[in-house]
Amino acid sequence: MQIYADNAATTALSPKVLEAMMPYLTEVYGNPSSLYRTGGIAKDAVEKARENIANLIGAKSASEIYFTSGGSESDNWAIKGVCKILKDKGKNHIITSKFEHHAVLHVCESLAKEGFEVTYLDVYSDGLVKPEDVKAAIKPETALVTIMYANNEIGTVQPIAEIGKICAEAGVLFHTDAVQAMGNVPVNVTDDNIDLMSLTAHKFHGPKGCGALYVRKGVRIANLIEGGAQERNRRAGTENVAGIVGLSKALELAVSTMDERCERLTKMRDRLIEGLLKIDRSRLNGSQEKRLPGNVNMCFEGIEGESLLLRLDLAGVSASSGSACTSGSLDPSHVLLSLGLPHEIAHGSLRLSFSDDNTEEEIDYLLEKIPQIVEYLRSFSPLWDKIANENK
Ligand SMILES: *Cc1c(COP(=O)(O)O)cnc(C)c1O
Repeated sequence: MQIYADNAATTALSPKVLEAMMPYLTEVYGNPSSLYRTGGIAKDAVEKARENIANLIGAKSASEIYFTSGGSESDNWAIKGVCKILKDKGKNHIITSKFEHHAVLHVCESLAKEGFEVTYLDVYSDGLVKPEDVKAAIKPETALVTIMYANNEIGTVQPIAEIGKICAEAGVLFHTDAVQAMGNVPVNVTDDNIDLMSLTAHKFHGPKGCGALYVRKGVRIANLIEGGAQERNRRAGTENVAGIVGLSKALELAVSTMDERCERLTKMRDRLIEGLLKIDRSRLNGSQEKRLPGNVNMCFEGIEGESLLLRLDLAGVSASSGSACTSGSLDPSHVLLSLGLPHEIAHGSLRLSFSDDNTEEEIDYLLEKIPQIVEYLRSFSPLWDKIANENK
């Protein structure tokens, strides 16, 4: 059996999305900025997509949507763009959380080098930011609050509407990285009091390399990419027309199928979690209730996440570990550490993330294989021996 369980990293392109994109990859190749007919058709497609996306996220106007190359660019643009404007007004403080995506954390770190003060809020053992912590951290110098809608490793869904309300009342701008939330939880920028929001197509069965930034009308933001006059002089570069059409179609499909899909995925998720929790010394990372329907993130004491992944790969399962164990770096994931997990436990993590393409039979298979692999790896783990001996 081959199982793709890494949908938080990226998703398969939907055939319906590809079909919508196809004309713009073939006959309609004109530049949207040109005056001749094929250019005009491409421009119309881009503007139709903008209107559609604005409606799907509850924006008041299509002019609040800007197309980008994806989630990373949108995050960079939102944070750097706002901070550049507000720094001149004496606002040099950013509030974020400890478990943001690196596209947010690394931007905050680089702004810190330019003199910004950054407050990194705790996320506690349930993987949730507390709105009262946001409120307590706001001060007259605060330029921006940036808190992700849903976490990409542990899938916890943050109290975004509450945080949005606090920011609106305090008169502080609020950005959210909604990359993981889009199509999985109802997102409405107006109801949630969101000023800036990042999204990317490839996390909901759209193409890679195309995203958007929502910027509420009236919010001032400096440009990130300078050049031509595209996107009303705000983001230069010839539009990724096929990508934009794909983003719009993928979001439309994700939103229209959300209720049914989430109900099915939540049941599958909970069945898997309950089964895996039967493994001795296992734990679920982050709240089970306030969680993306397709996310399971567990730790199994006494083993390395990487060994588990390699064994799962041999069994036909594509999954991911929380830890970024790349070429010699043995640091566990900053997300798991932010929950207060000790290093040795954070090393034994596994993230399984599902989409509508996954089946109950696949869950059965995982429930059979994972306990076997964990037991096998523990059978020659000195760390497991130590844990087992201590608890005799
Ligand atoms: C995937 C992801 C990103 C990055 O998006 P790209 O389109 O790959 O640049 C940013 N934030 C979160 C939460 C993500 O999951």
